[in-house]
Amino acid sequence: MVIGALPKNSSSSSSSSLKMQKFSGKVVIITGASSGIGRATAVQFAENGATIALTGRDTKSLEETKQMAIKAGGKAETILLIAADVTNTSDTKRIVEETVQKFGRLDVLVNNAGGGTMAGHSDSSFMQPLEVFDYVINLNARSLIALCQEAIPHLKKAQGNIVNVSSIGSFRPLPSYTYYQMAKSAVDQLTRNLSIALAADGIRVNNVNPGSIRTNFGANAGRTPEVAAALEELYLKPNIPMHRRGEPEEIASTILFLASKEASYITGQLIVIDGGASIGMPALPGQLKM
Ligand code: NDP
Repeated sequence: MVIGALPKNSSSSSSSSLKMQKFSGKVVIITGASSGIGRATAVQFAENGATIALTGRDTKSLEETKQMAIKAGGKAETILLIAADVTNTSDTKRIVEETVQKFGRLDVLVNNAGGGTMAGHSDSSFMQPLEVFDYVINLNARSLIALCQEAIPHLKKAQGNIVNVSSIGSFRPLPSYTYYQMAKSAVDQLTRNLSIALAADGIRVNNVNPGSIRTNFGANAGRTPEVAAALEELYLKPNIPMHRRGEPEEIASTILFLASKEASYITGQLIVIDGGASIGMPALPGQLKM
């Protein structure tokens, strides 16, 4: 997807060069780029000319994202893969260091890596052991602080920005994901506070807060395909006014907007992308009228 309108009479060749200009010269770190929302974001940044540093633990999946980014118009030499675990502070430090060492600057940090629970645990409800709480908070909130601390000096130089991936779970309780939702609430407050703290330095900080998006999130939280299908039909579709789950590309396009010049006066905002799920009653099905 290309952000921003093209001139009315632009030819396809001029439109492709404009497409390359959108983020050309900009260096973007995307955490959790080996799957789902992070992968779609990496592909869209590549399509729009960005130089990208992609992180995750699974190197094979990261390589797959790289190939998809190249197919979308990215160049191999402007894509850096960094295998890293964001719950490990020496890894978060290395993510920023290796990116700046290779590309000389940093313009955008997309804090996307996250997950609903710790491997081996079916959920992150209140009765899960405290080690699950520690892991989930570390993965979804503490790691963002660690990455921001490393990135901010470089973002100041580049007058760059941060986009954090939170969730509608930060303000809509779902008890089986209590620890996860606590972590995402922390992300919302981090974004609001950082946006004010960094405004004078010219750094913008915003969130996307997705609803239910079709990714590996559920499977990684131990959900079987059968349970996932039942959940979708019986719970999600009927309760989402648009009667469908979102696609990762629909989150990625908003991340790119927030990271772009078009959003130059937007900071401290939480942009909800959820098919209407969080605002109230679902749309009436079919011909029913109230
Ligand atoms: P996926 O499971 O598809 O992707 C999660 C990504 O996070 C993967 O790339 C994974 O990489 C990475 N990740 C997980 N743990 C670690 C870790 N310890 N260190 C480094 N990377 C890690 O899920 P989504 O794309 O859905 O999730 C992306 C973000 O969106 C998350 O923050 C999630 O909370 C949020 N979100 C998702 C929603 C949904 O319905 N899907 C709804 C609301 C928010 P790897 O395994 O290679 O390490």
